[in-house]
Amino acid sequence: MARATVLGRLTWRAAQVLAVHDESATARTVVLDVPSWPGHLPGQHVDVRLTAEDGYSTQRSYSIASAPGGTRVELTVQRLEDGEVSPYLTEVLRPGDPLELRGPIGGWFVWRHEEQAPALLTAGGSGVVPLMAMVRTRIARGSTAPMRLIYSTRGPDTLLYRDELRRLAGQDPALRLDLVYTRSAPEGWGDPVGRLDAARLAALSWPPADRPACFVCGPTGFVESVANLLIDQGHGPERIKTERFGPSGS
Ligand SMILES: Cc1cc2nc3c(=O)[nH]c(=O)nc-3n(C[C@H](O)[C@H](O)[C@H](O)COP(=O)(O)OP(=O)(O)OC[C@H]3O[C@@H](n4cnc5c(N)ncnc54)[C@H](O)[C@@H]3O)c2cc1C
Repeated sequence: MARATVLGRLTWRAAQVLAVHDESATARTVVLDVPSWPGHLPGQHVDVRLTAEDGYSTQRSYSIASAPGGTRVELTVQRLEDGEVSPYLTEVLRPGDPLELRGPIGGWFVWRHEEQAPALLTAGGSGVVPLMAMVRTRIARGSTAPMRLIYSTRGPDTLLYRDELRRLAGQDPALRLDLVYTRSAPEGWGDPVGRLDAARLAALSWPPADRPACFVCGPTGFVESVANLLIDQGHGPERIKTERFGPSGS
């Protein structure tokens, strides 16, 4: 890898907030303009650094939610009430504010739009963020690779990207979206409510013989459980890429 590329990723970049909008009662998308942005691949993340007036500084990782394109980068942050950084990003940050970030980071958990293999995306909670970047990139680049997003969330009130997902569902037969509600479902929801188990996962995914590229993202427990289920079902470990949204930061 070229030295300039590595140094570029390690460099803190100045960004400015263009817009913010709520995705749920506790999650917000922050739209940034990063003039020095070199571009990214869907699945990559950035580190965001906050610095207080007294010089205290802290940083956290956030996946990129947007498809690559120009200098615009979108992040979606789930607020943790007792958190240090996520309440600031979801409650305080306003359009026009500056922000520091570095990246894009990560070369493994990425989907390339040239890939033709079926892509099986499985998300738990805010783990949908980098997978949404893959869905958006597929559409933006006109990819015809079959893609399925299995999105597990607690209930309708925690569902991120609701309107966009509704719009996309049914728009393209090669893109399938399946929601798994773990605690409560909308009225009239026909499917079972509960955690994604082996039977449900097998019913919603491709058989291993189709050799899908599997991407799993979410809290550590979710990721480990789904990755193990996929392996039990016969998917090759080398075809399963995972991203754990554990605590991050300095
Ligand atoms: C590669 C990567 C990508 C990430 N992408 C996203 C993203 O797109 N959107 C997003 O909202 N978050 C994402 N995260 C999580 C994010 O980095 C922070 O950990 C999260 O925002 C909490 O930071 P905080 O400062 O608010 O909480 P902290 O002050 O760090 O922690 C407060 C409390 O919450 C616990 N905690 C911290 N982080 C988590 C977590 N992720 N899950 C459960 N408990 C936690 C801590 O142990 C502590 O008890 C990502 C993490 C990684 C490693």
